[in-house]
Amino acid sequence: MTLPVKESYDVVVCGGGAAGCVIAGRLASLGEVSVLLLEAGGPGDVVEVTDPRIWMRNIGSERDWRFASEPCAGLNGRRAPLPMGRVLGGGSSVNGLVWARPQGGLRSVGGRDRRRRLGL
Ligand SMILES: Cc1cc2nc3c(=O)[nH]c(=O)nc-3n(C[C@H](O)[C@H](O)[C@H](O)COP(=O)(O)OP(=O)(O)OC[C@H]3O[C@@H](n4cnc5c(N)ncnc54)[C@H](O)[C@@H]3O)c2cc1C
Repeated sequence: MTLPVKESYDVVVCGGGAAGCVIAGRLASLGEVSVLLLEAGGPGDVVEVTDPRIWMRNIGSERDWRFASEPCAGLNGRRAPLPMGRVLGGGSSVNGLVWARPQGGLRSVGGRDRRRRLGL
């Protein structure tokens, strides 16, 4: 939702990805804090965002910052594409919805009790 921009805000959140939207939403829900959420990309109300079966069509589109790596010797001097969401929702709007569980040593991050509380 886009509203008329006011002259000043208590908080400006830069980037409407998952993290930015959650932070802005939590702050706004307090009621007493005015929040401006700035997103460089568009609203993302297109089928490539709403239908996860075709998520890969977002890559290389206007919803992708289209970053690339430096030329890599291991890629025969080519640059690897580094997609990143440029749209409301950020990477969450263009990603593959894969729930990737941490493996091996990473599983100890946060501790066993915390994982159990989260149901992991
Ligand atoms: C193609 C792709 C596939 C993925 N697949 C999966 C998956 O299957 N499973 C999974 O768990 N994770 C996946 N991820 C990773 C996941 O989407 C990200 O880790 C997550 O979205 C990061 O959220 P974030 O809020 O930290 O950052 P981002 O989502 O990157 O949000 C940053 C936001 O800030 C905006 N922004 C940046 N600079 C400015 C500026 N100067 N002014 C205004 N706005 C700005 C960007 O446009 C973007 O919307 C994928 C990511 C991509 C790109």
